[in-house]
Amino acid sequence: MLTLECPCCDVKAEETELAAGGEAHLKRYGPGSTDEEFESYLFVRKNPRGVHFERWRHAYGCGKWFLAARCTATLEVFGTYPAQSKEPPADLQAKIKAKRPDWEGWK
Ligand SMILES: [Zn+2]
Repeated sequence: MLTLECPCCDVKAEETELAAGGEAHLKRYGPGSTDEEFESYLFVRKNPRGVHFERWRHAYGCGKWFLAARCTATLEVFGTYPAQSKEPPADLQAKIKAKRPDWEGWK
């Protein structure tokens, strides 16, 4: 079972207490963007086997959104961080890189 620590209330929550929100760090396109950019924003998602950044909501807890870094192949959780983050924290990226030297970075 997947267990994530909510960075908002510091509770370790099991998967059943959380709601998945899809890929994190999407670049949002609005008026003035091309059709291809908007289509990509709406429909195209990464589906890696390995390190992935995701949005989660502590649905049966504080109700707040947060972001998590985990491995989709092993379910290993590298860490969680606030949803307002523009990119994964540097210490989390260093932790992932130390555990997965072949990881190419978060973008
Ligand atoms: Zn919470």
